[in-house]
Amino acid sequence: MARALGIEVKSATLRPRISGQLQRSPDSPSGFRIRVNRHEAATRQRFTIAHEIAHYLLHRDYIGDGIEDSILYRSTLSDAREAEANRLGAQLLMPEKSVIRVLREYGGIATPEIARIMAERYDVSEVAMGIRLGLG
Ligand SMILES: [Zn+2]
Repeated sequence: MARALGIEVKSATLRPRISGQLQRSPDSPSGFRIRVNRHEAATRQRFTIAHEIAHYLLHRDYIGDGIEDSILYRSTLSDAREAEANRLGAQLLMPEKSVIRVLREYGGIATPEIARIMAERYDVSEVAMGIRLGLG
């Protein structure tokens, strides 16, 4: 998805408790690049990239030279914008129509066990899928 948008993604050693960055990058086709903390779990890195893509799509006019997201997905942007990026990031990785259809395949009722199976299928964390299924 990032590639299709012309956003370069780099796996990097970021400071502890920093999950990702969205920075201006003249060499990138979109003018932006994402750096993701390579020391975090793969599913976590995937969500961070989706979160930064969401910032690019929604907030790129507000980020100046760039932003940095903590492990709680907080940055210099407002909490409302962070919540928007979390929502869109979740939609990108777990589109609602798809999640509803797949949940039906498993009987239509969300349980922690179903969340675990679906998390694997969508390559997201069990926590992220649990929230998506309303188990939060
Ligand atoms: Zn953020």
